[in-house]
Amino acid sequence: MKKNSLILVVLLAASLTSCSTTRSERGLRTPADERDSETSVTPGSRLAEYCSDPVKAVCGTPSGASMPQLNSSLLAEAMTQAGQPGVQKPEDLDEAHYGAYMRALDANAISQTRWTPQALMELVMETKDALASAIDSQSEISSKDKAEMKSDLADLNYMGMAHYTRQSHADLMSFKDTCGQDGLRASAFFSADQGAVIICPGLLTLNFGRITDIQSLKRALQIVLAHELGHSIDNSEFPKSFKKLISCFDSQFRNMNSGNKIGGKDAKRELVADYWSSLSQVQIAKKGALAPELAAQTFIEGYSIFCSQVKRSGNDPHPAELARIYLHASNPEVRAYLGCVKPLPEVAGCSLSGPVGK
Ligand SMILES: [Zn+2]
Repeated sequence: MKKNSLILVVLLAASLTSCSTTRSERGLRTPADERDSETSVTPGSRLAEYCSDPVKAVCGTPSGASMPQLNSSLLAEAMTQAGQPGVQKPEDLDEAHYGAYMRALDANAISQTRWTPQALMELVMETKDALASAIDSQSEISSKDKAEMKSDLADLNYMGMAHYTRQSHADLMSFKDTCGQDGLRASAFFSADQGAVIICPGLLTLNFGRITDIQSLKRALQIVLAHELGHSIDNSEFPKSFKKLISCFDSQFRNMNSGNKIGGKDAKRELVADYWSSLSQVQIAKKGALAPELAAQTFIEGYSIFCSQVKRSGNDPHPAELARIYLHASNPEVRAYLGCVKPLPEVAGCSLSGPVGK
């Protein structure tokens, strides 16, 4: 496990563009304008749609969204609790008050939603188990690497915001880049220094009140958690294991990247973490014996955070978020679990042994 530097890997700032990934990348915002029409499509046909046109299935129907009203009341309350005189916005708080703001925001988000610190910790542990099963399922990985990956993974923990913001290594600037200045972006990050996954308060409110089934809500959150945990065993630690996978992503996703090669090292790490997340979703579905229709429903709900409604900056025209939906929906193991018959026309699936099914 890397111990030399604090690595903040931002799920929602993953880049499939040719630009090198930088701290200034946009995080993914959830749609501010929640759509209000309800779907009358049956679960079976949602599955078929997910198999054939995943972006339409995920983004073309009522989707997960942050809860604007809940978020603004959380923000106002935490600002009051942070208590810096004369300051109205989180971005104007000084460092000491900002830490207090984050702790208040996190505690309030937890108490307002159905999460508890204990439940979040258990969810991280369950996600670790799913990822460990995913490691075992990969015949391309040597037993030596598998053992090392599982040992790295075993060391990881969930760390609550109160704990994190009081650490001497807590990096508030990077934290703001991940969770947003107001802490309400639906995201999470992995800190190698702390050996932990830290959940932004904004991820807790995502889908709250919209996905009413607790198991579905958990599975949607695990998509993000598995990605973050996946960073502990990505290509920066195990470059050999992912060579063919990365070269497959590069060839298959170039069309979605304006014909450019997939860029820097960080962009590749994001792809590998997404790959681990997809495999973990399959393990979670297997363990829960989820019907394919229900698994597809989870993917449709969970991946809706990638239906960005925000205009990208002029120098970044690439549909990175939509590509991430394809990345999951084209995964050979995901498609096998769902029983998708035909491969996606846009991209072949990528596995550790290269392209599959096109
Ligand atoms: Zn990431």
